[in-house]
Amino acid sequence: MLPLNLLQSIQDSLDKTERMPVLFLGHGNPMNAIRENEFTKGFRKISEEIPRPRLILCVSAHWETSGTFVTAMESPGTIHDFGGFPKELYQVQYPAAGHPSFATEIKQMVTGLEVRLNYDRGLDHGAWSVIKHLYPNADIPVIQLSLDYQKNPRHHYELARQLGSLREKGVLIIGSGNMVHNLQLVDWQNMDTIGFGFDWALEAREKMNRFIIDGNHEALINYSANGKAFNLAIPTPEHFLPLIYVLGLKENGEKISFFNDKAVAGSLTMTSVKISS
Ligand code: ZN
Repeated sequence: MLPLNLLQSIQDSLDKTERMPVLFLGHGNPMNAIRENEFTKGFRKISEEIPRPRLILCVSAHWETSGTFVTAMESPGTIHDFGGFPKELYQVQYPAAGHPSFATEIKQMVTGLEVRLNYDRGLDHGAWSVIKHLYPNADIPVIQLSLDYQKNPRHHYELARQLGSLREKGVLIIGSGNMVHNLQLVDWQNMDTIGFGFDWALEAREKMNRFIIDGNHEALINYSANGKAFNLAIPTPEHFLPLIYVLGLKENGEKISFFNDKAVAGSLTMTSVKISS
């Protein structure tokens, strides 16, 4: 007789469900993890709108690796991967379970590259600072997929396309980053001024949203060819690439909606996207 949890994971691996939505979440300041503001309200509201997932697969801006990894431990820890924040933030724990058998399934379903299993990393704040608002009880298993920093945006887009069938197994795929993210140009006086964005940040936000609505994924994959506002908005790729995964998971005819679509601190946007059938 198989142990119950193993039976459950086999069951999880086989059952088909309705197609889950895909989310891009702008995470912004790690302090959002312990704050109540319109962004955290937006996260909570979105979880009420979508079916309850069986598992969350998160692609976070904060896990960059050489090669591609998926977390495969039973109980990932909570990583406090930032410096200089109040003690309260370091005390946050998000004790969601992992899902080793699903991590293995992801490894097996991806072709053309090796996805390696990781057993010693926990969940970074790109994952827990937002997932915590969607599912405060930490009662849905979470696994993370790393970003291979040696690969170009098209590679990430194509990798995402290989993961599409997970959506029909009750997996909520979340990309966590920020579409406009320039920390060097943050206006510290307006760190928490919601709605405050520099002209170039607002221009980039508007164009990005337009490309997303129009399904012009090519323009977003080739983001560096879109001029100055884009170059200022995406000085490094890691906060933008999670969006590329989310776009790669979109099927024809699916609906797109935006939420938390505001700038903050001048050089960040919290724009978040839901793609659903
Ligand atoms: Zn971040």
